[in-house]
Amino acid sequence: MTLKDRVALITGAGQGIGREIALKFAGLGADIAAADINPEKAAETAEMVEKLGRRAISIKADVGSSTDAEKMVEETVEKLGSLSVLVNNAGITRDRLLLRMTEEDWDSVLNVNLKGAFNCTKAAIKVMAKARYGRIVNIASIVGLMGNAGQANYSASKAGLIGLTKTTARELAARGVTANAVAPGFIDTAMTQAMPESAREAMIAQIPSKRLGTPEDVAKAAAFLASDEAGYITGHVLSVNGGLYM
Ligand code: NAD
Repeated sequence: MTLKDRVALITGAGQGIGREIALKFAGLGADIAAADINPEKAAETAEMVEKLGRRAISIKADVGSSTDAEKMVEETVEKLGSLSVLVNNAGITRDRLLLRMTEEDWDSVLNVNLKGAFNCTKAAIKVMAKARYGRIVNIASIVGLMGNAGQANYSASKAGLIGLTKTTARELAARGVTANAVAPGFIDTAMTQAMPESAREAMIAQIPSKRLGTPEDVAKAAAFLASDEAGYITGHVLSVNGGLYM
């Protein structure tokens, strides 16, 4: 499996799964544009990538802004020479039961998780279609497939992201660009560390593998879908969930 000399742009690369994807891809030979709304954290990731011997830049970008998304792609091509892989990883939660969910809770999650992926995809496919090569990997979620109480906004955004993935796959396949999604289960990051300990334990009890996933579990799946070797796989949703939902 190789990403040798590919340029990968990863959103939400400042921590958690996004950072792990950046490091995994760099280990497979890719140069990395680490984008995040938090510039200090993005810069830390870029430094870590450089220590692995690959080129890296960090970019401050809010994926919810189409202007930021376009600038991010331009800067990547300008500084790293091309753009072959886009990972739409930036994501947020604003959990509340439906009856208490505010319009703001709904809009902010949809804006980052779904519109953000649309903005970045739209900007990136211009470059990829021209080069007749591209790999788009969208980080969806198990709850986009099965729903989850307290996450109407988040599950809708991730289900929407799967729809976006499949349509991108259909529209771009003939140009050598693939689009796939990874649907992680419950992964041990800041997002799940925010859950009460009792809820985490109850969750683990339901997972056939009896453990939370690690960011590396997700990064390995993303690396396969981003690799040259996965060229005939497009429109697929790859679950990485320890058997929690099949
Ligand atoms: P995290 O909160 O640890 O990291 C998310 C990163 O995205 C942060 O660095 C944050 O600054 C950045 N970000 C937030 N809003 C942004 C914006 N508007 N523009 C650019 N960057 C922004 O989260 P994580 O657990 O690493 O999750 C990464 C992705 O994986 C998300 O899309 C999440 O929905 C998905 N996911 C996570 C889990 C899990 O259990 N942790 C499960 C399934 C899916």
